[in-house]
Amino acid sequence: MKTFKIFALCWIALLGQNLCAEAVKPAVENALEFSAPESVKLDGILGGALDAALRGDVLTSDIDMLIAPFRTRPETRRWDCEFWGKWFTGALLAYDYTPSFYFKKRLDKNIAELLATQDAEGSITTYQKAHEFKLNPKGWLTEGDKNSWDLWGRKYTLLGLLDYYSRTGDAKVLEAAKRHTDYIMDHVGRGKKDIVQVGCWFGCASTSILEPIVLLYRATGEKKYLDYAYWIVESWETSPIKPDLLNKALKNMEVFDMFEHPDPKYQGYLGGGKSKAYEMGSCFEGLAELYRTTGDEKFKTAVLNHARSIRDTEINVVGSGSIQERWINGKFVQTNGDAHWNEVCVTATWIKLCGQLLRLTADPQYADHIELSMYNGLLGQITENGEWWAGTTPLDGVRKFSPDTYCTKKTCCTTNGIRSLFLAPKIAYMAARDGAAVNFYEKSSARLCFGGKHADIVCSGADFIYNDTANFEISGIDGGAAKFAIYFRIPRWCEFAEISVNGGEKIFPKSGEYCKIEREWKDGDTVAVSLRSGISVVKDPAGSDFICLSKAMYTLAQDKRFEPDFAKPARLKLENGKPIWKPARLKDARVAVDVLLENGKWRRFVDYGSAGKTFSADSEIRTWFKQNAECAKPALHSLRPAQCCGHKAGNVACGKRGFAKLRRGAFSR
Ligand SMILES: [Zn+2]
Repeated sequence: MKTFKIFALCWIALLGQNLCAEAVKPAVENALEFSAPESVKLDGILGGALDAALRGDVLTSDIDMLIAPFRTRPETRRWDCEFWGKWFTGALLAYDYTPSFYFKKRLDKNIAELLATQDAEGSITTYQKAHEFKLNPKGWLTEGDKNSWDLWGRKYTLLGLLDYYSRTGDAKVLEAAKRHTDYIMDHVGRGKKDIVQVGCWFGCASTSILEPIVLLYRATGEKKYLDYAYWIVESWETSPIKPDLLNKALKNMEVFDMFEHPDPKYQGYLGGGKSKAYEMGSCFEGLAELYRTTGDEKFKTAVLNHARSIRDTEINVVGSGSIQERWINGKFVQTNGDAHWNEVCVTATWIKLCGQLLRLTADPQYADHIELSMYNGLLGQITENGEWWAGTTPLDGVRKFSPDTYCTKKTCCTTNGIRSLFLAPKIAYMAARDGAAVNFYEKSSARLCFGGKHADIVCSGADFIYNDTANFEISGIDGGAAKFAIYFRIPRWCEFAEISVNGGEKIFPKSGEYCKIEREWKDGDTVAVSLRSGISVVKDPAGSDFICLSKAMYTLAQDKRFEPDFAKPARLKLENGKPIWKPARLKDARVAVDVLLENGKWRRFVDYGSAGKTFSADSEIRTWFKQNAECAKPALHSLRPAQCCGHKAGNVACGKRGFAKLRRGAFSR
């Protein structure tokens, strides 16, 4: 690790993760900061995925293709416009992780080529002039050529420009960002076009430009951009379409209820309802940035309520959600066998939103959510060679590749995948005001930076299947010793935690909290963190007799490759209410366990992130299963609560429960 470079970067990172100072200081100081660029190396499970994504995409894919549609501007109604900005912001995070001369040249060349497409009016777009900023008065997808993703695409372009500027301070890129935005504001704004109607999904796509508008205000200090941000938020209420996102969130409305529920007269994609998960989440990311900038508590409350609703009603056992890209009260229908679960974009946006809230609040629940999503949903979605991603991925069934139908050879999901995956090193270790936080326990090393102090930390790694103890060694402290705090996250899944410093007295922290150890740390100090858990039986939140298993942060699944009986019922042998298990080793799975059945046989499970990875029927996945033969198969009907054959098992009736009853009944909070 090049210490001198780290020193240079650390102090800059404390300014808010940006390498050049913003013109406007945020009103709200983050409680935790992402780790500084090039300060963390992950060598465990997530580290392997990062390396694969670097080799398979970030450092090697053809990115000239991303620029091509900006040169020729062929678009009338589709979304090739989003891919450059999404890929580029993900690549910048990857650059933070592992910068190199070659990588910098690749990014510099790419952005120079994009800037060359900016026209005399300041516009950077893939859309034909006649089709830019089209109004879609119905707000939904039924208007054919009135569909428009133009402004949504310009949002990602603006994010890409600003993320590059924040790392380089390149004035010409900031100037390009301003001209790009001013062109938008010339056409869409107060007394001009209604931003809610300029796009799809009831303004959730177009108004999500809120996030980079706020960032542009902070970068420039120009009040007109802050005014524009407030106007966007106001438009949610004043537009004839009235998505009303802020008020709905302040009323603590569930995300599924924010827009129309599925209409039975539509089938397939159109039948998925109107609460478009990714676009809605993107608006709340912008609202979080507006809170950070202004300190207005109502924006924070709205974002916290939004995250609460997603957590309590939508996120499933693999830390993702959505069917057909829509919120669907998904926590309570996750055993329905639908093939269109878990858009990567939804997983990614949930991780990013939790990252925002972890920075703002230091509440470890958000690190818990991120851990579940990354180690299960996200790792399940990337191909093992890092070249591609799933589009959606079922809890029970066969994974499918994200369909490549675009001239850029990217998709919404492939580009969003890397944007969230490369947050892992920034979240594994974070800077606190008085020290540092440790969130993940895989094999890793980090340079901790806080309050003008620095220290190196090396983690031996614990995977919590084969090894429950992570050993840390501290070194490289300025002057050899310093007083500071290290906050070790004790995950909610942990059943028994034990920590000792230098082999001394043990402490037994509670799960679901940070364990703060503040002392005069010296070079050579060691910390042993043991986090123990058995295998847990997770019951279907909808009350059926489907179950699934989890161990530590892993949701366990059966994969046809490894378990020929994967589709058969499995009656578990329990001891004190817990399954009896032993670790297994498989070449093609990150972790594996064998679980004892009542008939004396063992049933093999792997982590969900390793299951289904041939993307074919060879590796069919079964996450939810039943212990009774009569109910062994998931029901193959969408948007319904868990049902099977109407058979009663134990005290739980597995069927005959209507959707409306489910919504109103025993599962309300
Ligand atoms: Zn997507």
